[in-house]
Amino acid sequence: AKEKGKNNYQFYCSQLNETMNRKMLLETELRNAIEKNQLQLYYQPKIDLKTRKLVGMEALLRWQHPTLGVIAPSEFIPIAEESRQIISIGEWVLLTACKQNKLWQNSGLPHLSVSVNVSVRQFQDSDFLLTVKRVIAESGLDPQYLELEITESIMQNMNESLLILTGLRKLGVKLSIDDFGTGYSSLHVLKELPIDTLKIDKSFIDNISDPKNQSMVKTIIDLGLNFNLNIVAEGIEHEHQAQVLSSFNCNYGQGYLFSKPIPTEQFNHLLIQIKIG
Ligand code: C2E
Ligand code: CA
Ligand code: CA
Ligand code: CA
Repeated sequence: AKEKGKNNYQFYCSQLNETMNRKMLLETELRNAIEKNQLQLYYQPKIDLKTRKLVGMEALLRWQHPTLGVIAPSEFIPIAEESRQIISIGEWVLLTACKQNKLWQNSGLPHLSVSVNVSVRQFQDSDFLLTVKRVIAESGLDPQYLELEITESIMQNMNESLLILTGLRKLGVKLSIDDFGTGYSSLHVLKELPIDTLKIDKSFIDNISDPKNQSMVKTIIDLGLNFNLNIVAEGIEHEHQAQVLSSFNCNYGQGYLFSKPIPTEQFNHLLIQIKIG
């Protein structure tokens, strides 16, 4: 038994070591991912659930490494947050998304709003407001077509966050609470923060047939609508989910039912098709 315990311990150590090595490797590789053009934005369509028309898109980051392959944001974003690289990466994301949206608008395509995910670390950086201001000026995008997606965790620094959110509002950008319902302060968010949109997390949509989940989703939608917010449901994969959500007056939806996140070129084609009609 003692031998076995020792083996387990060694196994555990080597597992831990591997995880550490991978993390350190990714952290190092991430440092020049921008210069080496390894980062890319994909865009996922946002759909009006009543008309089924395209109303916007969410920019989602992809990292294509020459030897490690595609690394998922769920793996590298936390690493970027810990190492604070998220500040420069986040700025690149913002600028790239705004420039791209402006490019689409300039080429006579329908004017849509682009949503960009903002990590709390990024949001709490003292330069964040200035960065957003600069990105808007540099891209030339009308700020009403930029929506920032933040999570409930910004509530941890209520007063500071409120100042930044108010500043962002003054710039004219839209604000959305991402993964709504998964945090501990959902109700406070509604009461305290100057936001435009609630995004209902995929976990609620997955089990929408379950009666408890369904009344939860309905309650979130009613609550949001009472606060005059737009409601977006994420992770819609099946038609019946879209139907239920639409019957609850959820305005917008995203998910594989409509489209996966797609590269810029492909989104371009989508926009051209819509324009031609
Ligand atoms: P999120 O903001 O909640 O984004 C939704 C995630 O669900 C995306 O995963 C999207 O591809 C995926 N998704 C959308 N529809 C469906 C569906 O119908 N079924 C399934 N199974 N999945 C769906 P992704 O692109 O892997 O991103 C994961 C998370 O990484 C995002 O979650 C977001 O928190 C973070 N992230 C992505 N890009 C950025 C970024 O530029 N900056 C920051 N700070 N975070 C980002
Ligand atoms: Ca999001
Ligand atoms: Ca998120
Ligand atoms: Ca989510």
